Amino acid sequence: MNLSTGSARRSHIIGGKDVSGDAWTPNINPSDTSDVVGEYAHASEADAAAAVEAACAALPRWALATPQERADVLDRAGSEVIARADELGDLLAREEGKTLPEARGEVIRAGQILKFHGGQALRNAGEIIDSVRPGLEVTVTREPLGVVSVITPWNFPIAIPAWKIAPALAYGNTVVFKPAELVPGSAWELADTLRRAGLPEGVLNLVMGSGREIGSVLTGSPDIDGITFTGSVLTGERILQTATPQRTRVQLEMGGKNPLVVLDDADLDIAVDVALQGAFGSTGQRCTASSRLIVTRGIHDRFVAALSAAMRGWRVDDARTEGTQMGPVVDATQLAQDEHYLRTATTEGGQVIGGERVERAASGHFLAPALVVGTDSSMTVNREEVFGPVASVIEVDDYDEALAVANDTEFGLSSGIVTSSLAAATHFRRHSGAGMVMVNVPTAGVDYHVPFGGRRASSFGPREQGTYAREFFTVAKTAYVKA
Ligand code: ADP
Repeated sequence: MNLSTGSARRSHIIGGKDVSGDAWTPNINPSDTSDVVGEYAHASEADAAAAVEAACAALPRWALATPQERADVLDRAGSEVIARADELGDLLAREEGKTLPEARGEVIRAGQILKFHGGQALRNAGEIIDSVRPGLEVTVTREPLGVVSVITPWNFPIAIPAWKIAPALAYGNTVVFKPAELVPGSAWELADTLRRAGLPEGVLNLVMGSGREIGSVLTGSPDIDGITFTGSVLTGERILQTATPQRTRVQLEMGGKNPLVVLDDADLDIAVDVALQGAFGSTGQRCTASSRLIVTRGIHDRFVAALSAAMRGWRVDDARTEGTQMGPVVDATQLAQDEHYLRTATTEGGQVIGGERVERAASGHFLAPALVVGTDSSMTVNREEVFGPVASVIEVDDYDEALAVANDTEFGLSSGIVTSSLAAATHFRRHSGAGMVMVNVPTAGVDYHVPFGGRRASSFGPREQGTYAREFFTVAKTAYVKA
């Protein structure tokens, strides 16, 4: 195989060592499919089992490491990630296809997350409570959960791994990390950075390859105490089924079908910008993307006209070309899925604006942003997650109907409203069935120091991120002490 300039051959990291295994997978640039980012080791079940074993062996030492040691490692790694934002952002854009500014922003975010949880390692406070019985004192402390499998998707190749791995390490757990097949590059850099920042051998183990092939080792082993997963609903449910017989703790972040309500009293420019960023940022490949635009009658035609014009003005090109506003779809399979949903929407009576294939100098998976108008809540495009640059518009009579349609979904990750009415915004915040609610800002784009997660089919288990992350990665111990 011809590896391009700047490409690499990377092994698994097991017990602190580079472990190659027998097979390699090329990492292909979705903006230019002739560009091979590198070759990455492809794990067998034996590799995965070795990673679990290494994590088990490292647990006693790391579980008792001082908070200072854990904090220092995470802080050092976070500083390095931020210092290398240009280089790591370029790698991320090259392997995943989001634009350079988006990729660089994600890398910086990952560094901030590492540093935040470094601080959290020092704040793992417990409680002392007087007993209901005389002469006794009760303490409640938090201990590490144990060995944790971290299984991540391709759409945020460094931020999602960081927001799972950082709290896992901060609270004294050891980790087996399996990144998505399409984006091993950013994952390897993150794991290697943490290794060089001083993690003891085996505390963080990286195995790359197919979830279908090695998933049962990472989710079904009785040696695994917790599984934190982000990905599709189908895989999440499979993991839950595999883990349940062992009573392994599971945290799942899955799909969304996020509504953005636009009311008649909205500022049109704000509404268009919020919809554009929310629906098509990161090529629409975000679980928090605004995929259902629910628009009241008085502003509908003006909103659709202005949004269509703005979409057409967007430059779709190589993720790493300056001025690109939307990069390619991640791979040929995802592109076929996006186009399948557009065809189905047309068959079911919607009209598609945009959504054409885009030809560029290099062969990449380029698709123009697509808006499906004239849809109703029962259509497939409004029920199933597309995970691409596709948004649909549902016209409604008034706010009450907009709220009902917004909540008419099996998902409940993120929701948004654009309005100048404090009353409508307040009511929506209270009555939306989503875990995260946005007023006059895109449904995608969150802070890292507050909880992230959804309701219903979107999420399972305790919230991720911020101080709430502690809930999943620790177990409470109640002690009764008589002096
Ligand atoms: P997507 O590829 O759309 O992000 P998936 O749910 O297919 O969503 O993949 C998310 C992550 O789950 C990936 O790292 C993938 O390798 C992994 N995965 C896929 N199937 C399994 C499985 N059966 N067990 C464990 N992990 C899996």
